[in-house]
Amino acid sequence: MRLAIFGTGYVGLVTGTCLAEVGHDVVCVDIDAAKVEGLKRGVIPIYEPGLEPMVKANHAAGRLDFTTDAAAAIAHGEVVFIAVGTPPDEDGSADLKYVLAVAKTIGQHLARPAVIVDKSTVPVGTADKVRAAIAQELQARGEDIPFEVVSNPEFLKEGDAVKDCMRPDRIVIGASSKAAIEKMKRLYAPFNRNHERIVAMDVRSAELTKYAANAMLATKISFMNEIANIAEKVGADIEHVRQGIGSDPRIGWHFIYPGAGYGGSCFPKDVQALARTSRQVGHEAVLLQAVETVNDRQKGHLFELIARHYDGEVRGRTFAVWGLAFKPNTDDMREASSRRLLEQLWDAGAKVRAYDPEAAEEARRIFGERPDLALCDSASAALQGADALVVVTEWKQFRSPDFAKLHGILRDRAIFDGRNLYEPAEVEAAGIAYWGIGRGRSI
Ligand code: NAD
Repeated sequence: MRLAIFGTGYVGLVTGTCLAEVGHDVVCVDIDAAKVEGLKRGVIPIYEPGLEPMVKANHAAGRLDFTTDAAAAIAHGEVVFIAVGTPPDEDGSADLKYVLAVAKTIGQHLARPAVIVDKSTVPVGTADKVRAAIAQELQARGEDIPFEVVSNPEFLKEGDAVKDCMRPDRIVIGASSKAAIEKMKRLYAPFNRNHERIVAMDVRSAELTKYAANAMLATKISFMNEIANIAEKVGADIEHVRQGIGSDPRIGWHFIYPGAGYGGSCFPKDVQALARTSRQVGHEAVLLQAVETVNDRQKGHLFELIARHYDGEVRGRTFAVWGLAFKPNTDDMREASSRRLLEQLWDAGAKVRAYDPEAAEEARRIFGERPDLALCDSASAALQGADALVVVTEWKQFRSPDFAKLHGILRDRAIFDGRNLYEPAEVEAAGIAYWGIGRGRSI
């Protein structure tokens, strides 16, 4: 099929590449000319395992192209995807300006019947707005070209995006006609060979499904962080509690890790946007608000532990920080817990020596050059001259450090483990003070 994809961010670029990989003829369009030029030369603007070779191979094979020319892309696509950002508005609702700008552009250039696919995460009712924006432009042109707007929310995870896209758990399609569902089924047939993955439904249910999925995952995280904070106070170890509850299949092992709070471009904004939608229709989403409040508090928890360890005397100290990305295997720092921690350390007069395997460039872009931040080339370089170590992102390479060596390097011999990577007894046996999340036994 001939496909056009608006937006070459995490979702648009990965989706476009995977669709090209299975044989579709894909044109990706973005307003960011530098990004498009880079992609044409094989420069991938994000870090995502497995993506680079796939982009290069499909581009070389002529199945994947990049352009800033929206009209040409629309002329190319019998199916046109909208995969642009939906950042939070000032009031927490999803800002639809990019989505509706694309809809307008589609209306201005559409010249033959097409299926328009909302892949961006958008509030319930957005498909109606997209349809209206396209229809308005067609009407202004005196054209009456049939089109249908379909909701096809994306569930890929950054860090696993290519894998998720090539082997999706499910493909949700919300449409109001059988013809559109059939077309989408044909498009996704290569991903649907082994067992039925397509869940077809009406448009509004599909739009809500995406928010429900992210809100449920965020709820699991905040729930565990809440219990972790209780564990810390009552002298229990959350890691024992986690193992005690995860074995119950009704609860399960996934997403019950306590930590330094969730971040990224999706959970924070989607929980907020769903709460906002809910308020707009007269329902106060008490649980969603609590999920957000708990997360916000959790992002400050590592600093609280640090302040407690030093009796509030943080000024003048140097902290090695391992991990800046909001989670491993990505360079994405949007809403990352590390950002709150760094700001708090700097406000308290401390210095930071940070290392992240992929996010250094992003950190440089966000923070610029500053005397209280050294972005280091390796985990061990970050430790040089540090008083204590703070682990913020659970990259695999941070999982089993040599604690005897750390004992010799860290001046104050203290580790603040924001992801519970280490066994408190093992760290303490090496003569290092250990602070984790919800690990009451050591406090
Ligand atoms: P992103 O910010 O990485 O990329 C968005 C891209 O859209 C940018 O390259 C931008 O230049 C481009 N763009 C903006 N306006 C445009 C226009 N008029 N025409 C063409 N391109 C335009 O965003 P993302 O992380 O890929 O997210 C996109 C959507 O998918 C959001 O709604 C997000 O919530 C959702 N989503 C994201 C993820 C994720 O893990 N990142 C997962 C599932 C769903």
